[in-house]
Amino acid sequence: MRMILIGPPGAGKGTQAPKIKEKYGCCHLATGDMLRAQVAAKTELGKQAKKIMDEGKLVSDEIMIGMIKSELDTNKECQHGFILDGFPRTVPQAEKLDEMLDAKRQQLKHAIELQIDDSLLVARITGRLVHPASGRSYHKVFNPPQKAMTDDVTGEPLIQRSDDNEEALKKRLGTYHAQTAPVTDYYRKTGIWRKVDASKEPGDVWKSLLTIFN
Ligand code: ADP
Ligand code: ADP
Ligand code: ADP
Repeated sequence: MRMILIGPPGAGKGTQAPKIKEKYGCCHLATGDMLRAQVAAKTELGKQAKKIMDEGKLVSDEIMIGMIKSELDTNKECQHGFILDGFPRTVPQAEKLDEMLDAKRQQLKHAIELQIDDSLLVARITGRLVHPASGRSYHKVFNPPQKAMTDDVTGEPLIQRSDDNEEALKKRLGTYHAQTAPVTDYYRKTGIWRKVDASKEPGDVWKSLLTIFN
């Protein structure tokens, strides 16, 4: 399986991707998680990225392309395919991805757009809880953990992302419509683009994905 998941913040990319990974045994590359790991490790890149992320802007194409290239080249899990979650977010990123895959004689199988109205995203984002080490996400109301603020699998604490507030979300949605919507147009012109109604229950979204895969 080689695919990308595109959708605004809160569309459900991080909720669905682990299910795809489990089914197909491919790697799940979530660029937001990768950046947050750099922030947590206080690397030079992490320090630069934190400010940009908190403002709801995009980290440079050059950095993001380098990050994805290095994972695709060296991560053994990606030999069996990949799910890109949060990349490409700009047209230059999409063009570079095409070049990278051409050089490997690989092809994308699916470019799936999770479509959802902006008005539904405030509740999803402001209630999101995450387990930083795994990227697992929960929701205070829609999908609460078994024990408050605790990851079901590891028992470790859950956190709220510093950019998961209404003000930062507004900026991220502005960025999405200006810079990432053109990426969906880019793939719409190919035969691999499909849309999914991401406003439904997670189980229904998963069923829509399976219909596309089969
Ligand atoms: P969400 O899950 O809410 O869609 P992500 O976790 O994917 O958000 O991304 C968080 C932030 O990381 C983005 O707002 C952006 O600043 C940065 N980021 C993630 N992926 C990319 C990318 N491909 N290009 C540029 N910036 C990115
Ligand atoms: P993304 O990775 O696209 O930013 P997430 O998968 O992290 O989005 O989902 C955002 C929040 O909404 C999380 O708290 C998650 O539990 C919740 N969520 C995900 N899918 C749905 C859904 N179909 N219905 C309601 N809430 C959802
Ligand atoms: P459904 O109730 O639609 O059948 P599932 O039971 O198939 O949903 O849930 C699939 C996965 O999504 C489970 O891991 C569950 O913990 C998670 N989940 C369920 N409801 C939500 C929600 N509202 N938001 C985010 N994740 C959810």
